Formats: sequence, C-alpha cells, structure tokens
Amino acid sequence: MKMLPVISSDRAYAFVRTKDFAERIFRDLTDLIYPRRCPLCDRVLDMEEHKKLICRECENKPVYIHSPYCFKCGKQLNDSNEEYCSDCRRRSHSFVRGVALYDYSSIRVSMYRFKYSGRAEYAEFYGREIALVFGELFEKWGIEAIVPVPMYSGKERMRGYNQAEKLAESVGAESGLPVIHGLVKRVRNTKPMKLLGVGERAANLKNAFIIASNDVKFSKVLLVDDIFTTGATIDAVAEALKEAGVSYVYFVALSIGAG
Ligand SMILES: [Zn+2]
Ligand SMILES: [Zn+2]
Repeated sequence: MKMLPVISSDRAYAFVRTKDFAERIFRDLTDLIYPRRCPLCDRVLDMEEHKKLICRECENKPVYIHSPYCFKCGKQLNDSNEEYCSDCRRRSHSFVRGVALYDYSSIRVSMYRFKYSGRAEYAEFYGREIALVFGELFEKWGIEAIVPVPMYSGKERMRGYNQAEKLAESVGAESGLPVIHGLVKRVRNTKPMKLLGVGERAANLKNAFIIASNDVKFSKVLLVDDIFTTGATIDAVAEALKEAGVSYVYFVALSIGAG
C-alpha cells in the first residue's frame, strides 16, 4: 500500500525550492540529449511513461516489502505473529529501526546498472518511491536530516558517483528533508562484503567510518543505502554518528534480501 507523505507547513518551503522554472528547462533539455530510461528494463521511456519514470511493462515488476516485516530491520516476514526476523532476534543493532522498499531479487539487475553501469538517473524514480511509501513514517519518527552511507573516495572517483548519495538526494528532494553531505567519511576501502561472513563483516568495518564535523546538531538522523543485508554497514555508520552525539539513527534501504 502506498501512502502519500504528510507535509508539515515548516517543511513545505523545501518543496517549492526545488521545482523552479530554470531547473525544469534544464531538465527538459537534458532529457532531449540523454533520453530517460526505465529503471527496470533500461528501455527508453516514451512521453507518457516519462511522468511515471518507469515503463508500463515494468510498473508491476518490483516486489514491495509489505506487512508483516521485521520491526527492527524491515526484512519481509512470513508469519504475522512474529515481530522480529531471525537475525534481529539473535543480534542487537546500533540503529533504532529501519525499513526497506523492495525485495532485492525483484530489482537485482536494475541495482547492478544503478551501481556499476552509470545509471545514476534511476535514483530519481527510486527516491520518489521511497518518499511516497515512507514519507509519513519519516515524519512520525521525527527525522531531522538524511545522511547517505558514504563510499570510499577512491572508489567513488572510479565509479563516478555514490549511488547511496544519489538516492539520498532524491529522497530529500521528494520529502523536503535536508541531505547532509560529507558528515560521515569512509576512510578505509573495505573488502567486498559479499565475500565475508557476519562476524567478518563487522571486523572489516571497524574504524572504517569517521565523522567529519565536531558540531553535529541532529538528534534523529535517517541513513540511506541501496541495500541492506546483515546490517553491518548501517551499524558501523550508526555507531560513528552516535559517538558524535546523534541520539537516534534510523535507516531506509532501497532493497533488502530475504531472511
Ligand atoms: Zn521497463
Ligand atoms: Zn530484522
């Protein structure tokens, strides 16, 4: 079920800000030169599909995480009597709680292009979906600022962008929440997480993140990442933020694997 985000009057100014005339003209011109593509199948969108940012064949392909889901990490649950997934029953986390939009397997190919094939533009569709589905929840949580999970600078230079940052910017533009860039830095290029087990992942990330400001004035922060697997990355960033004085760290992930 999709819910429209409720926008309080003090946040409404941010909506007005982004959609000014010059920006729209620039975007139309960019669309002419680089035609917009469907984030799922990568086909160029026609005029009608353009507004939805997804082609009509793919509209129903992404599988949304729906109730019941884990009250801690947002992973899909099959049993509505359960409150937490088996992972969260076993281990504690440094974040308060988080949610994820899609089942990873339903957007796997798209995620690959989003991360490795220069399709940063997919962030626009994905960020809008996140804001539509979870905007109201972010309000309820009292989120003050959005922080993208950082990428190691050398890696970002090679790839051209950090997909979590692109996603965060899009969620920020759609929800009216400010996005804080450069607050957390990834100071070590860690080993690819998919090659490591749960314990190794945490060790791999130890001291990988530092806070670049000694004046962190937020109490409730929303971390944004493209995928949630064991939560080791989100936990490591949350720990760094908490050490810097943030009281409550929440997260939203674009996708999440099965439990
Ligand atoms: Zn498509
Ligand atoms: Zn969980």
